[in-house]
Amino acid sequence: MKRLYWTNPDIYETEVELTVIDDNQVIIDPIIFHPNEGGQPADTGTIGSAKVINIETVSGRIIHTLDKALADGKYPACVNIAQRRNSAGSHTAQHIISSAATRLFGLKTSGVHIGLETNTIDFDKLIDWSQIQKIEQMAMAIVSENIVIETLFDKPENADSRFDLSGIETGMIRIVKIGDYDANACCGAHVARTGDIGIIRIIDSEKRKDGCRITYVAGGKALEFSQVETATLKELRKLYKCSTAELASLIVKSMDNARQLNKQVDQLQASMLPGLVDSAEIIAIDGHNIGILSDNISPRHIMKLAGMLAEKINGSSIIISDTNIAINSQTSKARAIFTRIQQTINCKGGGSDTAINGKLEKPTTIQSIKQILAK
Ligand SMILES: [Zn+2]
Repeated sequence: MKRLYWTNPDIYETEVELTVIDDNQVIIDPIIFHPNEGGQPADTGTIGSAKVINIETVSGRIIHTLDKALADGKYPACVNIAQRRNSAGSHTAQHIISSAATRLFGLKTSGVHIGLETNTIDFDKLIDWSQIQKIEQMAMAIVSENIVIETLFDKPENADSRFDLSGIETGMIRIVKIGDYDANACCGAHVARTGDIGIIRIIDSEKRKDGCRITYVAGGKALEFSQVETATLKELRKLYKCSTAELASLIVKSMDNARQLNKQVDQLQASMLPGLVDSAEIIAIDGHNIGILSDNISPRHIMKLAGMLAEKINGSSIIISDTNIAINSQTSKARAIFTRIQQTINCKGGGSDTAINGKLEKPTTIQSIKQILAK
């Protein structure tokens, strides 16, 4: 079977001879759709009036699954051009990045994933961000040269490949050549010239075992990503009144300030706890004192405040802070009080008969709590 996209990557529409294998599963000749293999997602498109919903290589045959049955015969087949250009551009970008990484730093590609949004390449060694930027620069230089992507055929033993090609072809192997930069056995769909990729952006990296994984985007997806980044940076520059280069240090400074302020608020609130205890409203239910307090106090202090209040009145206490609730009881009634509140207000929490820490579905008032307890 002839894979048309190997030798004619710009043909997206042609007549195919269709043979039914089983129900909605068919094979076609020539093969115009790229299957799900080699880390590159399957194409989508149509054959006649049927949509192609899955394409897989099974025992050397490329099986197309359609959304409805067709009879044997000749049909027009159309590839979803936007999706193909996206995956072929991303895949060709991978050849270029892998090649640049080898040339610059002797890295070997140990894994590849081409996605519909972002793509990853795994390298056998760890490199830093400045090295990644050099790889990105060389990749863009190769794109700018607008080199023709050639397909050659050779014997498998002569081919160097980053992929497991077992079960895909026998006898002859397809070599993808990008000028003097890369010659690698590969079964994927590529663009016709490196310039067709447009943009390659390496957007992230992480350590993986002894090596690293880089995440990159290409073509239209790279433009989309860069536009989101630019808009975000523009907004941040406006907020911090600084240049892009100054942003990181200003954000770190701002986070340090926030931590210091939180510490001061914490200390201040801790010193206010005895005063808050005195301001609680005390009600008596069946001779049992319950202190109720609603204040915008930090969740870090709420349990302590509940304990101080219950101890002072030798009864139970309920502290509300936004949607946080803490219940303490000197008389082991905390769980019973919480259960009673839960019968009216949706809330979750846990603890013991002496102390409960919970979360209300929405903020509530002292008045509401009093009404629930009075029932
Ligand atoms: Zn390839």
